[in-house]
Amino acid sequence: MDYFKEQVELIKENGLFRELKYLSKPQDKYTVIEGKEVFLMASSNYLGLANDERLKKAVKEAVDKYGVGSGGARLTTGSYELNKKLEEAIAKFKQAEAAIVYNTGYMANVGTISAICDKDWVIFSDELNHASIIDGCKLSKAKIIVYKHCDTSDLAKKIKEVNPKRALVISDGVFSMDGDIAPVKELAFLCEKYSNIYLMIDDAHATGVLGETGSGSAEYFNVEDKVDIKLGTLSKAVGSEGGYVAGSKYLIEFLRNRARSFIFSTAMSPGIVAASLKSLEIIEDMKEARINLAKNSKYLQKSLKDNGFNVIKSSTPIISLVVGDEKLTSEYSRRLLEVGVYIPAIRPPTVRTGTSRLRIVLMSTYSKAELEEALEKIIKIGIELGVNTNN
Ligand SMILES: *Cc1c(COP(=O)(O)O)cnc(C)c1O
Repeated sequence: MDYFKEQVELIKENGLFRELKYLSKPQDKYTVIEGKEVFLMASSNYLGLANDERLKKAVKEAVDKYGVGSGGARLTTGSYELNKKLEEAIAKFKQAEAAIVYNTGYMANVGTISAICDKDWVIFSDELNHASIIDGCKLSKAKIIVYKHCDTSDLAKKIKEVNPKRALVISDGVFSMDGDIAPVKELAFLCEKYSNIYLMIDDAHATGVLGETGSGSAEYFNVEDKVDIKLGTLSKAVGSEGGYVAGSKYLIEFLRNRARSFIFSTAMSPGIVAASLKSLEIIEDMKEARINLAKNSKYLQKSLKDNGFNVIKSSTPIISLVVGDEKLTSEYSRRLLEVGVYIPAIRPPTVRTGTSRLRIVLMSTYSKAELEEALEKIIKIGIELGVNTNN
């Protein structure tokens, strides 16, 4: 039999087959997926900026001024004045000297980690770090040591054992599947004790969401000056596209010279750069929206727990309702879609076997009534499927 057919059938047998679902409306709280109007509880467009009129206008103006394609890599002909402005705005937002923008957050991780770490380095990586961090680690020649999730004593012990010449400690700021926040303060104080250990935090889900101005996890814990490599994405709360690293002037100059995913890829469209720039003008003032996200997250978790559901404790808009069985999780998601609520089933290899889940993600634009209506459906169908076994 054809190899690929065989593999696909195997994936299907294990209940792990993934299919694309197509949207035909903007990504707002109500959208249309596969022709069906749904209430969206799965988007990283936390603040609704992806379809914001101000961002759309900025894109149109930039396209009129600069055209569509960027025409070259950043180091050849792909750097427009807008790129410089955006990198300066990111540096300011992240309280850093400088910043570099990559085409995606994935490319930022892969390019940054592999540029920094050669065989003389040791990487200490949280066991639940994002796939793009893991891939960046693999691409580097460094020795990789995985420490227990958010466990700074395990990390401290491992650092002592290994006594590295040079090391990079890497953690998600907000963990993309469980929605919990990394102990960034403890990590910062631990790394500060060693002049040869750098700390890198991936704030993909924290940017725009955590901290007074939305700057992220370092602001949330008040350790802005102690995170050496502040990585993040412009594709989630910022509502645009792209990944970035903010840090010292020399770090950024080093990456511009060494990060292969920066050097060997055509720069993003000036329109997208303009959208990010506009978003950063707006996002700091969206304090109300951030408060609303936190409040709704608390409310949803409490209601689900009170009804016997297994919910991973979260201080962010990412709430994991753990089901366990892969097929049951898919069934749960499918039933919710039937009643107009879209929450995808997250299964292995994205999460560990036996921890398949509905990953609920909130948007700041929900009203209380909308959230309650969706919650009722989640609870009703969950009870029908016997998912609420914590009682
Ligand atoms: C989404 C995500 C990325 C990748 O960012 P993209 O811009 O989507 O490529 C990197 N790290 C974490 C933790 C993420 O959640």
